Amino acid sequence: MKSIQKPIVIVGAGFAGMTVALNLKNLNPSLPILIVDSESNFIFKPLMYEVLSEEIRIWEATPKFANIFADAGITFLKNYLTKISFKENILEFSDELQLSYQYLVICTGSIPNSFLIKGVEENCYFFNDFNDLNKLKFFLKESQKTSLNKKLFIVGGGPSGIELACKIKDIFIDQFEINIIEKSNEILKRNKIFNREQAESALEKRKINVLLNATVKEVSETKISIFSEDGITSLEKDIVIWTAGVKPNLSYLETDDVTKKYGRILVNNNLQIENHNNCFAIGDISIIEGMEDLPITAQVAMQEGNHLAKNLELLIQGKDLLPFEFQDNGEMISLGIGEASISGLGVTLSGKLAFETRRLIYASKLPDINESLKSASSWLFQKKSFFKKFLKKDNSN
Ligand SMILES: Cc1cc2nc3c(=O)[nH]c(=O)nc-3n(C[C@H](O)[C@H](O)[C@H](O)COP(=O)(O)OP(=O)(O)OC[C@H]3O[C@@H](n4cnc5c(N)ncnc54)[C@H](O)[C@@H]3O)c2cc1C
Repeated sequence: MKSIQKPIVIVGAGFAGMTVALNLKNLNPSLPILIVDSESNFIFKPLMYEVLSEEIRIWEATPKFANIFADAGITFLKNYLTKISFKENILEFSDELQLSYQYLVICTGSIPNSFLIKGVEENCYFFNDFNDLNKLKFFLKESQKTSLNKKLFIVGGGPSGIELACKIKDIFIDQFEINIIEKSNEILKRNKIFNREQAESALEKRKINVLLNATVKEVSETKISIFSEDGITSLEKDIVIWTAGVKPNLSYLETDDVTKKYGRILVNNNLQIENHNNCFAIGDISIIEGMEDLPITAQVAMQEGNHLAKNLELLIQGKDLLPFEFQDNGEMISLGIGEASISGLGVTLSGKLAFETRRLIYASKLPDINESLKSASSWLFQKKSFFKKFLKKDNSN
């Protein structure tokens, strides 16, 4: 068996990073793997809506990296990457630590994209991580102390916007008049038709307004300006939640470090960064040449992580790498407290059964860290045996 001199360094321990680390360790337990993240806890982002609604507690969706990786025999370092010197194979971190690598995997995820629209950064709430969630939760709870029917706008009719709108309505009932602003002519434009239809009726049932073909021009402290077929309208607002898009989190890259497409790192179908064959980029930060339409999801990030583990092992053995292939396993969206919609793998489900199935499928997507995710298991594993037929434990995500 071939060995390597320096550790394989993985920066970013989210869905992509965690999957590659754990799978690689399984394939070759003797490999030295160092995984770095700027945070101490994993964030199970698809469960953030349930944390907001208090269907699960915050600690249940945020297991500690140190526990997950210690159990797997992987070294975890908490640090923030600030620079990569691709020529010298050196990483620089915010505390001035320098690390050299033989193989590098970067997977630092996404951050909200304000598209430089005036006032968005300053006057909107976001829903991308637990800081955002805590700020939003505080605002919503404080609002309960004052009048009803506050004007709440959600910008973006994608999954995040729809899921948030339904949860907020179910938690706070008449506290807010909820309006979704969507720039295209339908909500969930890139999602499955079944889920779109379920979402439309969930919104209608909850009397959530949807304004289509509308774009936000500016958000001030008190108003939101919207451009639609009626021209520009300026409306009073109490809160605007921005879920209109994300961009890759690549603050550590210099302009000429790598080739990008649509702002993301361009990789070949082996997941290698162009001109840097020992470096890989996966998850939300990268785009695969020829597969530009893949969605920016945890499902893709985990499949890439799983595939990259195999490719790294092949590379170390001096063998040819294999091209990545995406398998669409469907999609799930939560639609309010205790309800969801699922479409994929030949199954369409909605309502309470879909809600239970959704949480069990999430549990089954992380088979290698079930032990470490004991904290989340009380929520994720309830009624597991009943839903066995929906669980796919083959690690293919
Ligand atoms: C509210 C919400 C709900 C979602 N729901 C779904 C869903 O239902 N299904 C689905 O498939 N997808 C969902 N997604 C999308 C999914 O979460 C992302 O596509 C997925 O997390 C991408 O994985 P990743 O590993 O690329 O990034 P992430 O999981 O975001 O991980 C990136 C990691 O990098 C770390 N990091 C960032 N910068 C640095 C740095 N400079 N140095 C060190 N560490 C760094 C971060 O701390 C983080 O741990 C949702 C996203 C959100 C926000």
